[in-house]
Amino acid sequence: MKLYNSLTRKVEDFITNKPGVVKMYTCGPTVYDYAHLGNYRSYIFEDILEKSLEYIGYKVNRVMNITDIGHLTGDSDAGKDKMLEKAKEENKGILDIAAFYTKAFKDGFDDLNLKWPDTVIPATSCIDTYIEIIKKLLEKEYAYQSGGNIYFDISKLKKYNVFSNQESEEMMVGVRDSVSDDENKRNPGDFALWFTKSKFENQALKWNSPWGEGYPGWHIECSGISYKYLGEYLDIHCGGIDNKFPHHTNEIAQSESFIGHKWCNYWFHVLHLNLKNGKMSKSDGSFVTINDLKKLVYNPLSYKLMCLQSSYRKELVFSFDALNSSQTLYNKILNKVNNLKEDGKLDEEAASEYNKKFKECIENDLNTAMMITTLLDVIKSNLNNTTKIYLLKEFDKVLCLDLFKKEQNIDVKLEAFILERIEQRNEAKKNKNYALADQIREELLENGVELLDTREGTKYTIRK
Ligand code: AMP
Ligand code: ZN
Repeated sequence: MKLYNSLTRKVEDFITNKPGVVKMYTCGPTVYDYAHLGNYRSYIFEDILEKSLEYIGYKVNRVMNITDIGHLTGDSDAGKDKMLEKAKEENKGILDIAAFYTKAFKDGFDDLNLKWPDTVIPATSCIDTYIEIIKKLLEKEYAYQSGGNIYFDISKLKKYNVFSNQESEEMMVGVRDSVSDDENKRNPGDFALWFTKSKFENQALKWNSPWGEGYPGWHIECSGISYKYLGEYLDIHCGGIDNKFPHHTNEIAQSESFIGHKWCNYWFHVLHLNLKNGKMSKSDGSFVTINDLKKLVYNPLSYKLMCLQSSYRKELVFSFDALNSSQTLYNKILNKVNNLKEDGKLDEEAASEYNKKFKECIENDLNTAMMITTLLDVIKSNLNNTTKIYLLKEFDKVLCLDLFKKEQNIDVKLEAFILERIEQRNEAKKNKNYALADQIREELLENGVELLDTREGTKYTIRK
């Protein structure tokens, strides 16, 4: 299998430490709010990666953390403790907030047919491991104590900015931006491993440590959880592109200094889902969730299809117009599959030919757009239905688009009709035929379908 490796910036042969087995680590969510479609874009591709590796014969062991300590979200130790803020806002305990949003996050996995990783670990459950790592880093003098806190000294490393070819201007800007005016640090790029002195007044969660009561820094949780559950050698580490720096850079610094050898061979980063005017992010509130889609009666799987139609290595701009097209395509696929009835013998030769093609898409740096094209090719082909059904079921082991689920909870025909009318209305508007555009809107409204024009395109909702 060929896969792009962010560490070497090349498409490479994927070779595991132990033949046939993949140890995979995924950076999990911070659970103080709902995950948005951007977050799920990363998890959709990580899920396809896992299932693809299984499909071509690997056994995958995947671990994910859940960041349930709010102050872990930034090591500048400024700003606000997001978990604590939310707990106050909702009048609940921190751990209740974490439990609630972890469940909501998992529900999104279910809606998108993503496999919940084999091992999912809350950051608060591994404090002993972080302490063990930090002790060793102090012993080896990669870390130092200053102003009550423990910091990692990046000047002790031969190369710190491992994801960059040179210690480039761009990277140094990154370092500067992520750095606070913390006077305890020897170098501006140093980062905290353990805090006992915090600018937060009311520390929500604290633990005993050899350095006093406090809490771990942001990055140590992933190094700790990965070490505890996957050992010293990791095959692949995943996350959204924003994790590359400083989070993954710091994970590598800590883990390799601690274990004393190379830690992870492949780094898989998913590029962002953006809105027209920038990144979709939790902090500015401009985000769309899976539940928003469901309320508007979109099938979350058409969002998944939309993601799969483009490359994980390219940014994707979210719009309801694009989602409408994917939903139209998804409904067409479902209709076609629904009409397939077994009609004879499996054409083994043709089946193996198409299966080979599908595997080639996987092995060609996880080319999901070509996987979808191959699926459409099978539907369009003149293979008999039995062979089509066989192949589509095989492909759906990886894509998990519920191609053969009988009761789809959305009325496919009604939806197809609405989407067609939205397209006609867009066309009318383009031709400046506003009378027709208004007429279409009115007609839909009379039938209980409300169109909402947004900067991201036209979305619709069905009034009950
Ligand atoms: P967070 O809960 O903010 O830690 O994010 C969880 C995961 O979603 C991380 O792997 C992030 O890199 C990823 N992520 C955040 N925003 C986006 C986005 N707009 N598009 C794709 N992935 C994202
Ligand atoms: Zn992480």
